Amino acid sequence: MEQSQENNKILLHACCGICSGYPISLLQEEGYVPVVYFCNPNLDTEEEFNRRLEAQQKVCSHFGVELIVEPYNHKEFLDFVKGLENEPERGARCDKCIKLRLTKAFQKAKELGIKQFTTSLVISPHKNFQKISQIGESFCETNLDISYLSQDFKKKDGFLKTNNISKELGIYRQNYCGCEFAKHKQQ
Ligand code: SF4
Repeated sequence: MEQSQENNKILLHACCGICSGYPISLLQEEGYVPVVYFCNPNLDTEEEFNRRLEAQQKVCSHFGVELIVEPYNHKEFLDFVKGLENEPERGARCDKCIKLRLTKAFQKAKELGIKQFTTSLVISPHKNFQKISQIGESFCETNLDISYLSQDFKKKDGFLKTNNISKELGIYRQNYCGCEFAKHKQQ
């Protein structure tokens, strides 16, 4: 890889194949070289993790981007959100869940020497863009060599576009956010 491409690398934390399709294509259009990081210990079962991973692999291969997979470790999530199990969606449990995934994305970017990171989580209308940006930016306050790209992927019909990409690719489309605590309330 040429030096300019190395410098344009950005680590994109991907929550799933559906949400990450449009962010990958937009980042590519903007001149970035996205490296996708699938890190989702929040998923309630390994079966669900594997279903979403398979969808993610299809999306990455469609756009020709590198995919890094964080092995499934649900205990890490359960320990991190302990005591917040009954919080409503978008509440304190979700803040911690997002913090856990972005912490790991920041650490992975650092480990790989990638200077920027961001997340596909912001494309969902169910997620708070400002809060996610604050969490992402908080890691960079004392680590000036890495920056968080605060880009609202749902702008310009981003959510519709990402859904259309997932339908075109025929990937698995889940009907719940991910953890067991939100699943019971949504069914
Ligand atoms: S509802 Fe979604 S964001 Fe909230 S804790 Fe569960 S998996 Fe994480």
